[in-house]
Amino acid sequence: MRSSIGSNIFPPILTGRPATLMALQHHLGQSQWWDAERLRAEQLRQLAALVNFATRAVPFYADRLRAAGLEPGAPLTWQAWSRIPTLTRHDVQDAGDALNPAVLPPSHGRIGEIASGGSTGVPVRIHKSEFANLMWEAIHIREELWHREDRTGALVVIAGLPRSMSEAERLAGSTRDGVSVPQWGGIQSQIWTTGPLHMIDLNHPAETHVDFILKHAPSYIYTLPSTLRLILWHCRNRGIAFPGLRAVWTRSETVDDALRQLCQDTLGVRIVSNYSTAETGYIALQCPTSTALHVQSETCLVEILDADSNPVPPGACGRVVVTPLHNFATPLLRYEIGDDAECAEACSCGRGLPLLKRILGRTIDHLTRPDGRRRRFFFDHYALSKIRAVKEYQVIQRSLHRIDVLLAIARPLTDDEISQVRAIMAKDVGTGFEIDLSYCDRIPRTAAGKLRPVRSELPQQPD
Ligand SMILES: [Zn+2]
Repeated sequence: MRSSIGSNIFPPILTGRPATLMALQHHLGQSQWWDAERLRAEQLRQLAALVNFATRAVPFYADRLRAAGLEPGAPLTWQAWSRIPTLTRHDVQDAGDALNPAVLPPSHGRIGEIASGGSTGVPVRIHKSEFANLMWEAIHIREELWHREDRTGALVVIAGLPRSMSEAERLAGSTRDGVSVPQWGGIQSQIWTTGPLHMIDLNHPAETHVDFILKHAPSYIYTLPSTLRLILWHCRNRGIAFPGLRAVWTRSETVDDALRQLCQDTLGVRIVSNYSTAETGYIALQCPTSTALHVQSETCLVEILDADSNPVPPGACGRVVVTPLHNFATPLLRYEIGDDAECAEACSCGRGLPLLKRILGRTIDHLTRPDGRRRRFFFDHYALSKIRAVKEYQVIQRSLHRIDVLLAIARPLTDDEISQVRAIMAKDVGTGFEIDLSYCDRIPRTAAGKLRPVRSELPQQPD
């Protein structure tokens, strides 16, 4: 562990934010073993504070909660909670600023704005407080403690380059050489001594990513499942291995059993995945001893509901409804995130945190470029979410040269907005494509009722 104080080596002392986060780990280290009843009792106490605040300070909820029979100041019960209507992504779009309180307790810190919608095709923007980000980092550290064996080796990150990067770093990161810095960065490097970080944009073919990994011989790779799949196919077909690699960590999309097996067979390492979204924070982390996902009950309430809005039993699938417990900047009460999940029985590891066997949906097809190379199909939902009239989107690759963009709109787009959409597409898919825009009221769903935001009609498997 590092010390926050210069020239202090032993025993190491943390101060400030890292100290707060490690103090919180002490609590999380205990609460993970609590039984379901005790966890729910504590959650209800935190929910009561959130509901009380929302009733008083958030215009959208004042009427909605009263209509559900929740009076300000009255004790919250699970029965009353279940009467609150779920909040859809379209509700969030329509409510806009009415979901945000005029004033936040000063101790919750500054407010930032975040956008989400890359895996559901329904973009939303909400506010997030520094306090909510602190809880995000607390779970991030829990994931480190649950899964990371060693932090002294190199970390290769293959992802969209973060907006926090300088223009020079972004430029370097977008080349084949990527960008390298001496520490992993983030909260990990404020708490532990870490190895170097090598980062490259995911907007390269698998061959470039594989060369980059071979060059830096990392202990860990961090990327998105759709990009990992392309890397694994490339390695498998050529007998390439990555000596020294300990695990591949992923985010954003679903990891299925086939991908886990492919990673084990091809590289001999496991995948560490989680379930998180920008607007809710971490929802679940992979169990340290299995591939199922433990709900992070200390930071969110997760309900898996059937068609009649009743909780589903273990072994059954239902809609994921999440309530982040600590983001008062845009309270999301019973938020229908747009995913389905399968509930599991209590975990054999002994942790009381509820278990999800798998998350359904959240899969992204590959884009095939005119030269035949594949890469993750990326669409900048963050930029798109600024055009409020766009309610839903779907990007479809029809052929090697043609991409259709279907937009569900609240009103006809202005010429300027159409240019913006075209610019986003051109930036994301590159040249060589004819891009066609069309409009509708609602984007057709799959047989399972899902909107697939990006899909391809070209073969996904390698020849
Ligand atoms: Zn477990």
